Amino acid sequence: NYRCRSAFKLLEIDDKHKVLRPGLSVIDCGAAPGAWSQVAVQRVNALGTDPNAPVGFVLGVDLLHISPLEGAVFLPNADITDPVMLKKIQKLLPTGRADVILSDMAPNATGIRELDHQKLINLCLTLLDLSQSILRPRGTILCKFWDGREAHLLQNRLMEHFQDVRTIKPQSSRKESAEIYYLAKLYNDGVKHQKH
Ligand code: SAM
Repeated sequence: NYRCRSAFKLLEIDDKHKVLRPGLSVIDCGAAPGAWSQVAVQRVNALGTDPNAPVGFVLGVDLLHISPLEGAVFLPNADITDPVMLKKIQKLLPTGRADVILSDMAPNATGIRELDHQKLINLCLTLLDLSQSILRPRGTILCKFWDGREAHLLQNRLMEHFQDVRTIKPQSSRKESAEIYYLAKLYNDGVKHQKH
């Protein structure tokens, strides 16, 4: 039983694009109520349910309270954009780095589409800045955004730092919703620049 139907979006994306696997360390940004974290706990084998597979780790962060979930560590009442959180997150990660950053974050919507779009793009850009200190080379970011005129800014930034950037509209996302995901794989961490 998932805490929220958003679980099906992550399941669908992961089935198709293979983001999660046993042994990976995952940060779930905007984790409340915890459905994506439930999926992540299963898929990275955070509980060691499969004794023959490596054991992963899931850290969920949200502005709101999140009910405890076996196999996940939560930082509730926490703003991911708060610089103090970065240190806390690094301390909680087993190796100080994550293999995957998931973001299903959404700011409180004003209903003004253009403004909400900008707020979420800015939140994603801030997350991308943070990822430079917490994402492992060759790591992955999956982030939700609301479509609009500034989406290309985020896409361009992702393409500067990741070798493989895709746009995903899950079937399980409501058709009328403006939500889309960017899936960025193979974080460069400066590697790209060394080649030239
Ligand atoms: N993926 C979640 C699940 O499956 O249960 C649902 C996430 S919900 C759509 C978006 C969440 O993003 C909200 O709970 C909200 O509090 C959180 N959020 C928005 N801005 C945030 C921020 N700056 N830091 C942390 N969480 C944030």
